[in-house]
This record gives sequence, C-alpha cells and structure tokens, in this order.
Amino acid sequence: MHLRFDEEDEAFRREVARWLEEQLSGEFASVRGRGGPGDEHALLEERRAWEKRLGEAGWTCLGWPVECGGRGFSLARQTLFYEEYARAGGPGRLGHIGEGLLGPTVIAFGTEEQKERFLPPIARGEELWCQGYSEPNAGSDLANVQTRAELDGNQWVLHGQKVWTSWAQWSDWCFVLCRTDPESQRHAGLSYLLVPMNQAGIEIRPIVQITGTSEFSEVFFDGARTDERNVVGAPGQGWKVAMGTLAFERGASTLGQQHNFQNELQHIIEIAKANGASRDPVLRQRLADAWIGLEIMRYNALRMLSREDGTELSPEAMITKIYWATWHRELGKLAMDVLGDEAEILEGAPYELSSLQRMYLFTRSETIYAGSNQIQRNIISERALGLPREPRPQ
Ligand SMILES: Cc1cc2nc3c(=O)[nH]c(=O)nc-3n(C[C@H](O)[C@H](O)[C@H](O)COP(=O)(O)OP(=O)(O)OC[C@H]3O[C@@H](n4cnc5c(N)ncnc54)[C@H](O)[C@@H]3O)c2cc1C
Repeated sequence: MHLRFDEEDEAFRREVARWLEEQLSGEFASVRGRGGPGDEHALLEERRAWEKRLGEAGWTCLGWPVECGGRGFSLARQTLFYEEYARAGGPGRLGHIGEGLLGPTVIAFGTEEQKERFLPPIARGEELWCQGYSEPNAGSDLANVQTRAELDGNQWVLHGQKVWTSWAQWSDWCFVLCRTDPESQRHAGLSYLLVPMNQAGIEIRPIVQITGTSEFSEVFFDGARTDERNVVGAPGQGWKVAMGTLAFERGASTLGQQHNFQNELQHIIEIAKANGASRDPVLRQRLADAWIGLEIMRYNALRMLSREDGTELSPEAMITKIYWATWHRELGKLAMDVLGDEAEILEGAPYELSSLQRMYLFTRSETIYAGSNQIQRNIISERALGLPREPRPQ
C-alpha cells in the first residue's frame, strides 16, 4: 500500500479545510451538516447552489482525468478532500450519482460525443443523475430486467417500471438498464440508456420510507423518449456497462463516509459519557468494538483504493460493502441502546426524528442497497473462496 501524505499534501489539506470553513460558515452556513440519510430532502435549492459552488471552485470530479474535466487527483489527495469535507460537516451531495457512477462509466465506455455532452454539466454541478436498475422483479436478480426500449426513427422509446430509484424526483437524467432485444433473456439483449427525466412519458411516485422521508421513488416509463445516440456501449451490451458502473460505487468517497461514521461514533460516546451509559459494562464493550471496527474498515478501504485494478472487484472491495453496512447497522442499534428510553421519543410532531434516530432507521437499508449482505456473501463464496456457483434460474 502506498498511501502517504507528504508536506505538499498537508498544505493541500489545509487549503481544502480553509475553503470549506470559509464557505460553510459564510454564504452556505445553512447547509452545514444537512442532507444526509433521512434528511435528503433538506434545503434542496441551497444544496443545488452548493453543487455549483463546488463545481466553480474545482472541487467536483476529483479523480476524473483532467482531459475529461476532472482534477486527476492522486488517491491521497482525494482521500484528504473527502476527509476534510466530512470533518467540516459538508452537506450530503446531490451530484454524487453523476460524479461517482455515471461520469466514470461514460469515461470508460462512452463515445467522445457523450463525454462532451454529459461530463461538463456534472463537473459544473448543474445536472443531477439517478440510477434506474432495480424493478419489482429485478433487484438481486438484476438480469431479470423487463423494462424495454425500441427504436422509433432516431429515438429510443421506453416502457416499463423501475423502483427504489434514489433521487429520481430531483434528477435531470437517469441511466436506465433496459431490454432492447425483445427476444433476449437474462444478461443478453440489455442496453444502457441515458434518459432525460423531465418529460411527459415519465411518472415519478415518491415512496415514503421508515425515516418519514422519500429518498427513493417508483419510476414509470410510458412512451418516454431519448435520442438514439444516448446509449452507452453498443446496444445489447448493457450488462457489461452496468457492471462497470457498480465497480465505481466503491470510490475514494468511501473514506469520507468513514469520517462521517467517526463523527457519529464520537457523538454516541459523548452521549454515553453524559447519560451514564458508559458505566454499563456491555455498552462499553460495544463502544470499544465499534471503534475497532472503524479502524479495520479504514485500513481495508485504503488497501482497496490503493489497488489499480480498474473495473475488477478486488478481494478488499468484496469485503468493504458488507463490512461497512453491517457495522453501521450495528452502530444504529448501539446509538439507540445508549440513548435508552430517550430513543423512543420523537424530536417533534408529527414525525420529526433526531439525527441518531434517522441514522438508526436508515441504516436498516444499508445491508440491502448496492448488493444485499446475502448477495455479497455469494460473491465472496464464488469469487474469493472458489465455491461452486449457486444454482441460478436458466
Ligand atoms: C435505500 C435504498 C436505495 C436504493 N437506491 C436504488 C437506486 O438508486 N437505483 C436502483 O436501481 N436500485 C436502488 N435500490 C434497490 C436495491 O438495489 C435493491 O433493493 C437490492 O438490489 C435488493 O433487491 P430487492 O429489493 O428486489 O430484494 P430481493 O432481490 O427480492 O431480495 C429479497 C431478500 O432475498 C435475499 N436474496 C435474494 N437473492 C438471493 C440469493 N441468490 N441468495 C441469498 N439470498 C438472496 C436478499 O438478500 C434479500 O434479503 C435501493 C435500495 C435501497 C434500500
């Protein structure tokens, strides 16, 4: 592992910290610490403006190549940025799907024309994206996608339904995995289409979640259209592109996420000290375990990120998702146990939750999205342990 911070990196860290502090205690003070899970609807206009400010200042797309409009930063620099962002209480990003998933996919698989059209507005913080993979009968079994598209002149026309689409109601574009060969089955005959969200053929129905908010929606396509050129990779090759996108899900921002976890753990420890929970022998053990888990996660993430395997899933990457999601879900339970009776009381009517209550409830979903724990274990069994493949539908 070669991740070291030299004096120049530390100077960079100070520059980032200064810039964030200036912005988040000045014009953007209201968004500080806002927009995380369960709070995703907060201050949308202000956070859209924040995305643009990040873009103007060159703080988006840090790992993209310079020729694609990114900063071409080393892993160390990206890590420093995300750590400082979390430390400063930078708001939940609205542009993370475009920046972290669609952008790298277009860079890896897209045409020059697609790069010119789609990358700059992401880097400027202007266009927001959502991910249209899951359907009512295609979640873990994603190859069962039934949404279909066919060419009508020089446009694709889509029919079908997606579900659990995070940020759909706020997005300008969606990357949609759909079936363009009506005779095809499973992984074959799928295409990866880029579809504008603001059009008559799309209906978005937000789903109210246990947090009381709607981070995701159902999305219905009924004659939705997109230009023939908006297919990434060749028609019929969508599976390969879709899997490429998933490999980008575990980028350097993982380390910023861990800094957020650390902030949460610190907050829980302070509550435990203040309300006496820290004297409970079992809770003390669990707090210490949480800290150990966080350290393990950090080392594993650094090992994962310092590999240069491109779109291949490394052994560290296989461990990372299941480990952080399970750890965070346990942290949610620990937070509630440390709060004790107070955990049962709402902050306000009708359903206003404290940040720890929101965290507890949202973490229930983390072992499901981006590949459930069971699916992660299947991947590890097959790819890391070499066990026989589990039986699959033909
Ligand atoms: C908060 C949140 C945000 C999301 N955002 C998006 C998004 O933006 N875009 C998008 O496309 N999707 C999104 N999803 C959907 C997510 O990808 C799916 O929920 C996930 O893939 C699981 O699919 P499913 O819900 O259909 O459950 P199923 O696949 O039906 O699974 C149900 C249960 O069966 C288990 N199971 C399934 N297959 C196997 C197997 N082969 N072996 C062992 N156990 C198995 C699962 O682990 C799970 O416990 C989101 C989900 C959540 C919770």
